[in-house]
Amino acid sequence: MKLLLVEDNPADAEFLAASLRRQRAGDVELVNVPTLALATEKLGLDPFDVVLLDLHLPDGSGLQCLDAIQAVNNEIPIVVLSGQDDEEFAVSILNKGAQDYLVKWEGQGRTILRSIRYAIERKKSDLHLNYLAQYDPLTGIPNRQFFNDQLTRATARARRDGRKVTLLFLDLDAFKVVNDTLGHDAGDRLLKEVADRIRRSVRTGDIVARLGGDEFAVMLEGLSSPRDVEALASSLLEVIAQPYHIADRQLTITTSIGITMYPNDNSDTQMLLKNADIAMYQAKEYGRNNFKFFHEQMHADLMQYHELERDIREALHLGQFHLAYQPKVNIRINQLQGLEALLRWNSPSRGSVSPADFIPVAEESGHIIPLGYWVLNEVCLTIKSWQDKGLTPVPVSVNVSARQFQQPDFHKRVAEVLRRHGIDPGLIEIELTEGLVMEDTESAQRELAQLKKIGLRISIDDFGTGYSCLSYLQRFPIDVLKIDRSFVQEIGGSRDGESIIDAIISLARSLRLETVAEGVETAAQLHYLLDHGCHVVQGFLFGRPMEMQLIEPLLAALEQGGMDSTAVVRALKGFG
Ligand code: C2E
Ligand code: MG
Ligand code: MG
Repeated sequence: MKLLLVEDNPADAEFLAASLRRQRAGDVELVNVPTLALATEKLGLDPFDVVLLDLHLPDGSGLQCLDAIQAVNNEIPIVVLSGQDDEEFAVSILNKGAQDYLVKWEGQGRTILRSIRYAIERKKSDLHLNYLAQYDPLTGIPNRQFFNDQLTRATARARRDGRKVTLLFLDLDAFKVVNDTLGHDAGDRLLKEVADRIRRSVRTGDIVARLGGDEFAVMLEGLSSPRDVEALASSLLEVIAQPYHIADRQLTITTSIGITMYPNDNSDTQMLLKNADIAMYQAKEYGRNNFKFFHEQMHADLMQYHELERDIREALHLGQFHLAYQPKVNIRINQLQGLEALLRWNSPSRGSVSPADFIPVAEESGHIIPLGYWVLNEVCLTIKSWQDKGLTPVPVSVNVSARQFQQPDFHKRVAEVLRRHGIDPGLIEIELTEGLVMEDTESAQRELAQLKKIGLRISIDDFGTGYSCLSYLQRFPIDVLKIDRSFVQEIGGSRDGESIIDAIISLARSLRLETVAEGVETAAQLHYLLDHGCHVVQGFLFGRPMEMQLIEPLLAALEQGGMDSTAVVRALKGFG
């Protein structure tokens, strides 16, 4: 038996050691440390069977001493050593988790040893009771009590740091039938297996508990989008529905899941469980083997997402997308500088859907990858058709989403499309958003360098809305910064918007980059931009995104020779 004696008074320590020796406690090894700091250090290094703890130490006293020991090891039995004058306090400390106390100098060897043995036994049963109080004996996973405690703690943390807590409430479908027909033993084995399957389906930090009967709960902490949660719920449904082999039989069971999120469904811990329970019942009504969010809106959003996702897939297949082209004008040299290709979707059932609505869903679902290559291909076809008609094409910008850009060998696939159509890479400009480039700087840098090598131009779209750290720009082979529409719209209104524009223009100048202002709608905005050194503009003032057929006469007019800016405006207005 190994004892850690935390006692700073050498006389007290020696008395105790001597008492133990007298008791011929041959199997007892005593290690004496004089401070709490040394005690916690020792406990971290060696396994001890018991701690004998003085409550007046150079670096702590009273409860503090107990807390310090329990903080490093809350499974070790503790015997508190007290002087006669603080015996009462020593007794009270038993309620705080110490197993016994000894009054110093009184202890005869026999008493000490007995006290130590008793402390060890008592700690064991404390731990066992604790376990029984917190764990479900059948499945070995936490019970409702433990789960409630953890949920309370998690919501408190969530309140502090703004993270989310997600609660899944599972109830097996028709478990009673198994119990009634195959007996309780089979029912128990099924519950055990279900508990195991749930536990194996979640991440290590997530908590799985049996709330009682055939009810289980899972708690997730941290950011989880409804779709992450959906993925987990679906996999739980699937895993639980796999056949079980119990009592020489193969049986299957399904489950219904109710889901709620804190603080979205804004409620206290008990309300959260209740909400999850309500959602679970709705899932059962829905036809079982199903999950349902407590928050109607969350479920509705999710269903809407899936419908849109399905429609996008179909639209790609049926060729419902087309491109509109919006002019970019260089006012200083009175020229049409280029066009931006923008996706348009006319859905037979939805009508015309805004890219702001379908692009995010296409990105999340991955459809943006084939869609993005479709856009590039379409742009190449269009340029080719202009060339075939004897028109001189202008450069066309193509928006590229993160998902597509981050594909391995993105540049190779781009090069391949261009080669297939025989398009000069100088005619294609890639528009990327700021965040995208910053996300994985090293591989982004490599990819951009490859694209440059092929001969494409690169512009950063919606510039100024993302990262404020601009120094990275130097390291990237970028040609253009597109000043975000939101700043342009603040011209004449907020000084902040204007100073951001000024800053972007001067930054671009020092890095020898071009600037393009997006969303120019008024003459006042145009003049401000020209006065401050941004000459290339794009916006409704010069033309809305328009169909390819409308661009052709414009290109033809340009063939006739230069136009002054008012003529460009007029021409564009006429066609747009
Ligand atoms: P963006 O790349 O910043 O495109 C400019 C958006 O501003 C376009 O919206 C355009 O119609 C709009 N716009 C142009 N001038 C004005 C103006 O003067 N005033 C106002 N209020 N708006 C103006 P759109 O076409 O709805 O596209 C929205 C976003 O969808 C685009 O923003 C782009 O991020 C994305 N997108 C569009 N087509 C594609 C595509 O082919 N691939 C990818 N990945 N994203 C695309
Ligand atoms: Mg763009
Ligand atoms: Mg933009």
